[in-house]
Amino acid sequence: MIKKKTLTGSCLCGAVQFTLNGPLRPVAACHCSQCRKTSGHYWAATSVARNDLVLTNDTGLRWFDSSDQARRGFCQNCGSSLFWDTRGRDQVSVAAGSLDGASGLKTDRHIFCTDKGDYYDIEPGPQQFDKH
Ligand SMILES: [Zn+2]
Ligand SMILES: [Zn+2]
Repeated sequence: MIKKKTLTGSCLCGAVQFTLNGPLRPVAACHCSQCRKTSGHYWAATSVARNDLVLTNDTGLRWFDSSDQARRGFCQNCGSSLFWDTRGRDQVSVAAGSLDGASGLKTDRHIFCTDKGDYYDIEPGPQQFDKH
């Protein structure tokens, strides 16, 4: 976990804004079909303890149950994909692209690589996993 100063993030239109107060996990890039659909490419996210994710504006926030285990948070106004929340976990995934300014984070793994799209290559460096 990386200890960072407080970071802020938002959707594209600003109807969802939040602060991350706690340590953040390095970014994981998920290439599964659900993440590709929801993001339009692949989903890159850090994660933070549930209590350290503080919504400062949630007027646009809506949740979609993407499976029995997880739901995805997005802005109903502008469509930004923001959160991935698995039931029973104390961590919430937060889209790395939604963060404001320099995050100080690095991508340390690619997961569900066998499900990736055929139109791009995964850059060398971070570890690659077939599943997770
Ligand atoms: Zn928005
Ligand atoms: Zn995924």
